[in-house]
Amino acid sequence: MDDKIINKILQNRKSCKNIIAPDLVAIDEGKSRLVVAPGWLRGIAQGVISEIGCHRHLRSAKILISVSTKTGDLQKFEAGERMIHGKASKASSLSRLLTAGGKGKLASIDFVVNISGDALQFYGACDKKLNRLDSPEGLRRTIALIDHELSHCGAKINGKYIPENEVDNFVDGLGKRHIETCRDVLKGGKVVQDEVVNDNREILIRYFAADDDGNFIFKLNPHDIEEFSAVAGRHGAYNPSLSGMFDELKEYKGPTLFPDLPKDKPADDKSVEAA
Ligand SMILES: [Zn+2]
Repeated sequence: MDDKIINKILQNRKSCKNIIAPDLVAIDEGKSRLVVAPGWLRGIAQGVISEIGCHRHLRSAKILISVSTKTGDLQKFEAGERMIHGKASKASSLSRLLTAGGKGKLASIDFVVNISGDALQFYGACDKKLNRLDSPEGLRRTIALIDHELSHCGAKINGKYIPENEVDNFVDGLGKRHIETCRDVLKGGKVVQDEVVNDNREILIRYFAADDDGNFIFKLNPHDIEEFSAVAGRHGAYNPSLSGMFDELKEYKGPTLFPDLPKDKPADDKSVEAA
């Protein structure tokens, strides 16, 4: 990611209007501990939402970020064991009840994101008390993890072909729900890229779906790919998803954030799951 955007995210001093900070006590069960994310981490998440266009639908969302730590997990990260770094979920009624602040109604939160505090320490972003450290690499890794988890926090998208002379009106009506006006052309029922044909030209508009009140319809997004490194090594980009990831990596010009890591080792316990 471009340094300018990283700096903007880190310097985000705006109020965290999308990342809620409920006054909840920490849950300490000896070996494991769960707290509401500290201010610096909430600021990074708000910065990612504010500065990265792919997350712009979340500017209408409320998100609770928690941080969990567990005795021994940092050592597992350092040993190269495969661990869960974070996990995004849609807000349950229980989490909405617990964050309602005793006002007698459910809080309107949309997503809950739990981040491993041990992963953050492993990244070099904070100490064991979750105090932020002055580590550019640690903060870059944290931004990448938050970007990943927020990418799970999606919204339903619709698409519609509109005659060219009606496009402006249609887009104006969509307002912030507009995603993109594709310059595709429908010709004889077939999409033809970048070609002006005749007065019947229709253009694909992609936009966020809305409920009856005009609000985004939030949903969880799955990962683009699930693959084994060794299989990719044997067969290359053998499917469209893998091919897309391969193209993105070729375009990436930033630093390698973990150049000296031990090779990823599969864990032998239940910590292996999608996250
Ligand atoms: Zn994930």
